[in-house]
Amino acid sequence: MSEARAFSFRCIRCGAGAPASVFNLFSKCCQLPFEIEYRDPAAAASPRLPLNRGHVSVSLGEGNTPVIELKKIGALLGLGKLWAKLEYQAPTGSFKDRGSAVLVSAAVEAGVREFVEDSSGNAGASLSAYAAAAGLKAHVFVPASAARGKLDQIAVFGATLHPVEGPRQAATDAARRFAEAERLPYLSHNLSPYFGEGMKGFAFEIAELPGPIDQILFPVGNGSLLVGAARGFGELTEAGKLARIPQLHAVQAEGVRPLLALLLGGPAAEIRPTVASGIAVSNPPRASQVVAAVRRTGGTGVAVADGAILEWRRRLAATEGIFCEATSAAALAGLEQLVRNGHIGPSDRVLLPITGSGLKEPLGG
Ligand SMILES: [Zn+2]
Repeated sequence: MSEARAFSFRCIRCGAGAPASVFNLFSKCCQLPFEIEYRDPAAAASPRLPLNRGHVSVSLGEGNTPVIELKKIGALLGLGKLWAKLEYQAPTGSFKDRGSAVLVSAAVEAGVREFVEDSSGNAGASLSAYAAAAGLKAHVFVPASAARGKLDQIAVFGATLHPVEGPRQAATDAARRFAEAERLPYLSHNLSPYFGEGMKGFAFEIAELPGPIDQILFPVGNGSLLVGAARGFGELTEAGKLARIPQLHAVQAEGVRPLLALLLGGPAAEIRPTVASGIAVSNPPRASQVVAAVRRTGGTGVAVADGAILEWRRRLAATEGIFCEATSAAALAGLEQLVRNGHIGPSDRVLLPITGSGLKEPLGG
């Protein structure tokens, strides 16, 4: 933790600074997560990363996911141009690998040998894979109800799996207690600012597409991809490499929509079970960042029903040949609504990240 480092932490609410450390998850001032602040101006050849060497030391080939046009669904919705960015074609089958590469590289730099994490499934599988590649021991706390495919994936990478009964939050609470009792670092991917910085590459890849993108819809639970994309687009505009940031829209399940309550006003709805397990986050610690990023880009929020999510998962597979998990299909259900209410028009150029593979979860949801 030398003073010569080119980056430091700042509290997401008040901006108070702190030295960057993979072990420090909450600001003393506000008890909230940090974001990274860089000393050097953005150059925009590639995203700035909070690593000593400026690039990841642990990689499994993440990033640079393909973009393909969804011609049939675009036509069905009356859109001239609709693309999917196939984030599920990542090493462990979800976009989380972008963040795991940075977080595990930072952990290695800090001398971590063993750590604790909690996840709805995909992030746990991803961090387990990167921990295996780096020779680290991982303890992963997950809801006992997580899909079998995700649990098997965590186990096969050699991580110790800790299934926890109850809602998603119960796994978080158990992980924190375990880390404290065992005196192990808690590398929460939702709290650590290192993880989110890995998401900036998503924006850099979109900026390299032949034409501009007007709208992007994200399924959001903790919102790491949306916030990371906003930070990436911010670096690109700062460096003069991008004229206009796309509108970033947040899609949540009707059953779990704390971000939409903040974004659109009104009381938070009661929490109900949803098939979109990857975004069933009742208390997202970076909520203020998600809301700020959506507002700053002129985006909006939309809640979608489980029935629509499952129908769009089926339709994406049956008409375009893309098999995503239920959570990912929420973006399509959200798009249908924003087209119907006129927020997105026929001439808009729209992109959806297909965040996770359908192969890990049973078709029932
Ligand atoms: Zn603060």
